[in-house]
Amino acid sequence: MNKEKPFEHKEPWEGVDESKFYPKKSSIGGFLAEGEKLKDVIVADRKVCEQLEIKSKEIGEKIAELLKRAMQEQGHKVPAVVDDFEISWTSWRGMQNCPFDGSYADFSNLDFIITNRKTGESFSGPGLIAHLLKEHDFFEGHTSYRVDPEQAVKVLFEKEIKKGDVK
Ligand SMILES: [Zn+2]
Repeated sequence: MNKEKPFEHKEPWEGVDESKFYPKKSSIGGFLAEGEKLKDVIVADRKVCEQLEIKSKEIGEKIAELLKRAMQEQGHKVPAVVDDFEISWTSWRGMQNCPFDGSYADFSNLDFIITNRKTGESFSGPGLIAHLLKEHDFFEGHTSYRVDPEQAVKVLFEKEIKKGDVK
């Protein structure tokens, strides 16, 4: 098992047990809605990211950076202000492990709301999304924890898909 050819690019959905992603499996709400396919969700969101000229990894890195700085600089005072962003979060007692690899990533015990103070736009998500985006290109399926790529990029990078961009 798991023999990889050198230089072979492995897609995030390859070799993953998708059954764990559905509601009431490894998380109550699930990472995919019933009937959704991991590959379809990732491929569709990659197209949105392409139009926004950004990689999901960059979005995940930005979320991780803001959460880290919010906690360090503000001494766990909620909401925290970091640069142009206001960050609120709720910590839970348990950590949510990654459905791809079972790891316990940073921030996986919290849910956050990030607001851009200049534009007033905001989005919310689970802390685990930073890891899911950095490592697995995954915004979650259409569950209550999904992070919408367009809204996240609008808040974090003040970038939008302009009409006419789509060819
Ligand atoms: Zn992972």
